Amino acid sequence: MIAIDMALDFVLEHQLFGEIWILSDSRSVVQYLDNWRDVSDQRGMAIFNNLKTLCNSCVLHLQWIPSHANLKYNDIADSLAKEGTTMPTYFELYSRRKAFVNISWRHPPAHSWYRSKGPGATIHFKGNRKDQAALARLTSGNLKTLRFSRGDKKFNICTKCNMIEATPQHLLDCVALVYDDMLKRPDFVLEVMKANDLMDLI
Ligand SMILES: [Zn+2]
Repeated sequence: MIAIDMALDFVLEHQLFGEIWILSDSRSVVQYLDNWRDVSDQRGMAIFNNLKTLCNSCVLHLQWIPSHANLKYNDIADSLAKEGTTMPTYFELYSRRKAFVNISWRHPPAHSWYRSKGPGATIHFKGNRKDQAALARLTSGNLKTLRFSRGDKKFNICTKCNMIEATPQHLLDCVALVYDDMLKRPDFVLEVMKANDLMDLI
């Protein structure tokens, strides 16, 4: 559904009118869109709004094709999709980030960055001074790039994914670590941050 929605956006944006074929190996999606009167979800509506606009200027075909039948472009799409599932997609990152903004910051999480001095959260770490300072900034949330804009916290954009603000939470997310790792294996956390060239953001 996302792929079809984005394809239609692309067609509209680039004014590619004429005859358009959308081939999908997802039978359920083709059937779902065929039954458009029942479509009530947001993605479905986005697609239908695009389809309505496009129908004025072009002929649209939505067709099911079999998968794994050695169709060149289907195989290409398939491998791209597989590649995509091995990393968090933009949508996942975006909604995770949104969820974090909407929920975690409003209701401090159990491991609030600001309660890290509390009991049970003492970090035993014997790095050099520079590393100790970096770890202290990471656990306290006072990163080098932290600034305030109209009362909101702002961080630089992450240099690893180039998409999300490099908050302490995101820095951990982006290298697949969790808050607990800072408490249990702080030297490893810093090693991973260094290996990913993220120390400038900490
Ligand atoms: Zn990132």
